[in-house]
Amino acid sequence: MPVEKIKVAVIGGGLVGLSTALCITESLPQCTITVISEEFSPNTTSDVAAGCLIPHSYPDTSLDQQKSWFKETFDYLFKIANSSEAGEAGIHLISGIKSNGGYLERRKINNVWDLHGIYDVVVNCSGLGSRHLFGDHSIYPVKGQVLEVNAPWIKHFIRDGDGNTYIYPGISCVTLGGTRQNGVWSNLPNEQASKGILDRCCHLEPSLCEVSVIQEKVGLRPTRSALRIEKDILIKNGKQLTVVHNYGHGGGGYSIHWGTARKVSKLLQEVIPLPHNVYTKSKL
Ligand SMILES: Cc1cc2nc3c(=O)[nH]c(=O)nc-3n(C[C@H](O)[C@H](O)[C@H](O)COP(=O)(O)OP(=O)(O)OC[C@H]3O[C@@H](n4cnc5c(N)ncnc54)[C@H](O)[C@@H]3O)c2cc1C
Repeated sequence: MPVEKIKVAVIGGGLVGLSTALCITESLPQCTITVISEEFSPNTTSDVAAGCLIPHSYPDTSLDQQKSWFKETFDYLFKIANSSEAGEAGIHLISGIKSNGGYLERRKINNVWDLHGIYDVVVNCSGLGSRHLFGDHSIYPVKGQVLEVNAPWIKHFIRDGDGNTYIYPGISCVTLGGTRQNGVWSNLPNEQASKGILDRCCHLEPSLCEVSVIQEKVGLRPTRSALRIEKDILIKNGKQLTVVHNYGHGGGGYSIHWGTARKVSKLLQEVIPLPHNVYTKSKL
């Protein structure tokens, strides 16, 4: 008789949700994954980042842990970049999830208990959404604005000392940045901010002064003093819901996403064989 698979819902279709879902489908074939998200690409924070691999600091997460997640991510991406699949790396996440039997569903979850009884485990990669979904008031936005410009002659990245101004060439355009505004929830571009970015980038690279702007983009970095990657058992009216959290990547999600995805896969493996095991309650 075929053994029924463990049903896992991953909330969040940004970089963190998709990479976590892919990692689970690759490492835990006993699970079926459904990624449920209000938005997918191109409408997530992850679509705004130029995606430079650079260590970002999480003051309340151990430095050794941060270093090892960064290294795991760097090694993973370096391998892809040097493989024959490098040209298709951008579509790797979604196609990888689907080819491993996973599903994608576009909808907003207003109450995580709506998933109870349908899924065995919930993996929370909802970034800023965790504020409402899990009542975590320690997560907040850091608004970032960038400009995509047409400047095909720029072949190398340029970044100033404090990292506030940067020029990152990509496949189809060059990204100029940036801004960091703590606690700002608006995702509308600001004209003054765009002018400031252009001025600063022209100062670093004068050939950009006459450049044409393709679009202004804004993203809200899901920021927290410590990443939250842990098991959590929710209990309500005698019912129990197992959640594994993975959020709070702030301004460094690209740089550590694969390391954190692997950590979640390991945590998930711990809850699968003993689904009725009682773990410590939420630390919030
Ligand atoms: C301007 C800018 C530049 C950056 N540059 C870099 C860089 O160079 N290097 C780097 O490493 N990082 C960079 N980052 C940071 C990086 O983009 C983030 O760390 C990363 O995108 C966070 O990914 P995420 O999946 O956690 O969040 P998101 O991309 O925000 O995804 C969250 C997902 O959850 C979904 N969701 C939320 N609530 C719910 C709900 N209730 N129900 C269903 N779905 C829900 C959303 O729809 C979304 O799909 C930058 C960010 C910005 C804004």
